Amino acid sequence: MSLQFRREQKRARIHDPRKNFELVEVESELRYDPLTETTGRICHFALSRLAVPDLSGIIAESRAQCPFCPGKVESITPRFPQDLVPGGRLHNGQAILFPNLFPYDDISAVAALCPEHFHPMAAMPERPIGDGLKLARDFFGLTAHRVEDGRAFGLVTWNYMPPAGASQVHPHLQIVLTAHPGNALTRELAAESGYLQRHGRCYAEALLSAEIEARERYVGATGCVSWLVPFVPYGLFGDCAAVFRERATISELSDADIADFARGLTLVLRGFAERGLWSFNLTFFPARFGSDGGAHWLTARVLPRLYLNAGLHVTDVSYLQLLLEERFAMVKPEETAALLRTALAAR
Ligand SMILES: [Zn+2]
Repeated sequence: MSLQFRREQKRARIHDPRKNFELVEVESELRYDPLTETTGRICHFALSRLAVPDLSGIIAESRAQCPFCPGKVESITPRFPQDLVPGGRLHNGQAILFPNLFPYDDISAVAALCPEHFHPMAAMPERPIGDGLKLARDFFGLTAHRVEDGRAFGLVTWNYMPPAGASQVHPHLQIVLTAHPGNALTRELAAESGYLQRHGRCYAEALLSAEIEARERYVGATGCVSWLVPFVPYGLFGDCAAVFRERATISELSDADIADFARGLTLVLRGFAERGLWSFNLTFFPARFGSDGGAHWLTARVLPRLYLNAGLHVTDVSYLQLLLEERFAMVKPEETAALLRTALAAR
């Protein structure tokens, strides 16, 4: 078998004060990523749903200062030099792209997705997602040749709402053209190349067919986009991945592919909102532009973010993820997949 879903059950023995100090066993689980063999832990806490806080204060306060709202976005966001982006900014539908005032690399942009200052995660429309991705595709079309002779990476990421690290409430993407796509993507691409050499097959294709057959973590498909929950979860309260069949970069996506993704993402976000989640990170994992080895299919990772205890400002990351690079979840991926399957079927 070319894919291994390896897990180890752990049992801690304690005298439990909640049960009159009876000796009990507390289960947890260690899982190994089938591609990279990196590990993650799942500890079965009885957390099923969070209470959504009243966001009206954050929305009203941020709206007053928002640089991405109509009227301000045209007058106070920066412009690219004419030789890079004629006109200085790009438009597609209702989305507008301009340089990041705080760039991550030589070519670093932000796309404000819509004129509306706020869309709740439970009712995110498809239009802003589609407009933003088409804009990213347009931007890479204009600029990709500027870095690494056109063989750089086109990254598209989204921090939605403050728990995910967003400093602006207004929906916006970060779009970066870079030779250095980050350690996680670099590691996965190397592992996928090794997998292709050993097994003669694209890893994402093998994973998808194994997950479709097993039906444990497969969520469903919206057109060409398949949705599944990773065997080793990234998110404390679940996460999800989209796989684009036989596409390697955002530049290869047709308008129909983008519409398929936007439709699926809105449903997945609605599913996570059922758990009381209201914030997420999203990151595309593309191949390098110009790669033709067939080792990689484009994926997107959706990672809901939360405050474990809003009153005490307890975040959902700790030394485990940040310093030991160990993923940690409180919910089994198979439960998350069941939740999202229902959400995807509700379309
Ligand atoms: Zn705004």
